[in-house]
Formats: sequence, C-alpha cells, structure tokens
Amino acid sequence: MRRPIALCVLLSFVVSLAGVALKLMPQKQRQKFILNNLAKALMDTNPDSLIVVEEKGDQFLYTDYGCAICHTRHADKPACHLYVGSLEEALKWASGQDITVEETQCKARGDPCCQFTIGAAA
Ligand SMILES: [Zn+2]
Repeated sequence: MRRPIALCVLLSFVVSLAGVALKLMPQKQRQKFILNNLAKALMDTNPDSLIVVEEKGDQFLYTDYGCAICHTRHADKPACHLYVGSLEEALKWASGQDITVEETQCKARGDPCCQFTIGAAA
C-alpha cells in the first residue's frame, strides 16, 4: 500500500517542476519528457527499481522490471490499473491530449516485467 501513494506524490512533484519547460516542447518531446521524469523519480525513491523508457515507432514503451503495484499479486490479466491511470494522467497533463496507455505485460501474470505501450496507433 505504500508505493501507490508515493506514485501520486511523485507525479505531482514532477509535474510542478516540469510546467515551464514543457510548454516549449513539441508534442512528442513532451510525452518523452514526462515519461522519463516519472521513471527517474520512481527509481530515485527505490534503488531496487529499474524502469526503461524506449521509443518504438510513434509509440513509447515504458517497462518497469520492479513494479511494486502488482508485487506479490497474481492475475490472469495485466493488473496495474493504477499505473496505467497515473501514466495517462501525466501524459494528459503534459500534452493536453488523451493518450492511450495499455499494459501489455504484467508481472502479476508471470511476465518478466510490467510493460506499458503508450500512444497506441488508432
Ligand atoms: Zn505491475
């Protein structure tokens, strides 16, 4: 229960710091910026975590190898809804657009990581 709260606090912290810089960036850059900063903030608070943000075509892949949201949980389907919601909120704030986030791998389901595909092509 500890980590989800921290995620929200961190998010608002990143978002308040980023406000001015973001306004000057093109759309794609804004998305990348917020994803990288969120990943960095999470890794700073938890030395055991490893989060990788990659560009893949016009999408981003956000991969958390130490996801604490589904830690110890088991599920048939990707279970990190809080993570999806936080990413969507951060992206919406940063870009002013609704950007789709889909969890495509989840440790709760036995995958090696929790991976989120961001900006799914419509
Ligand atoms: Zn997870």
